[in-house]
Amino acid sequence: MVYRRTLRREVACTGIGLHCGRPVRLRLVPAPAEHGIRFARIDVGVEIPATLAHIGSQDHATTLLKDGVSIGTVEHLLAALAGLGIDDVRVEVDGPEVPVLDGSAAPFVILLHEAGLRPLAVPRQLLRVKQPVEVVHGSKRARLVPSEHFEVSYSIGFDHPLLRHQALSLRVTPRSFTEQIAPARTFGFLREVELLRKSGLALGGSLKNAVVIGETGVLNNKLRFEDEFVRHKILDAVGDLALLGHPLVGRLEATKAGHALHAAVARKLIVTPEAFELVPSGAHAPEGGLVPFTPALRPAGA
Ligand SMILES: [Zn+2]
Repeated sequence: MVYRRTLRREVACTGIGLHCGRPVRLRLVPAPAEHGIRFARIDVGVEIPATLAHIGSQDHATTLLKDGVSIGTVEHLLAALAGLGIDDVRVEVDGPEVPVLDGSAAPFVILLHEAGLRPLAVPRQLLRVKQPVEVVHGSKRARLVPSEHFEVSYSIGFDHPLLRHQALSLRVTPRSFTEQIAPARTFGFLREVELLRKSGLALGGSLKNAVVIGETGVLNNKLRFEDEFVRHKILDAVGDLALLGHPLVGRLEATKAGHALHAAVARKLIVTPEAFELVPSGAHAPEGGLVPFTPALRPAGA
């Protein structure tokens, strides 16, 4: 049996919101069993559970929405919590967005290491995929299929000479998440950055928190992985699937997908009763906990 986990102590950091461009204070607070992950806008006194039912917009990031109040760019923090196997945390922000930090989940992993983990007295329930479900939008596709573990197979392709095709499959464990996925940064194309800015998005974006792909090369000094882009897509998917509210036992197969498709396939799963079951964490116990973080991957300033 694996028990639910929260943090040992509270931790905090401050950073810029990617889209709003303003500094936001983030605090992660231990919570009781069955609390789940909840985001609180302490500046306006609204708390939003991190569930599929509260997804607002999914334009370039995943935003949670309740009572007309939103919290943006939740997916990288959610990925870090799910990737490390943390179930119950209160996330407080004093602005409209979670800080982007370096555009990856690595600073959140470091913060969670600082907090430490504490097991709670309630066993974890896992969400096991029993039958495949699929969502297709043109050439974009996301499928959840049965598997003994939580796995992701992702492939991306863009109409750009530097990023025609990347693909990666892996089993998501605290170790693989920490070492292979968490450090992968947000990316965007230079031609799109200008459009985003014009529509009031990416105002806090810079080469410090995103990999920017120009016409002839990457504008940043170097990549953290040769295939950093597909790894970041897996990071986003782990974060978006965390909105299911239970650790997943199954494989996501995604082609050219993104936030909206990740959420669509998760929604399709939970409205298809024969496609999933909740199981105690004995038979399919996922690994959980903290693994040493390679100092070489520590982002500067984190
Ligand atoms: Zn992302």
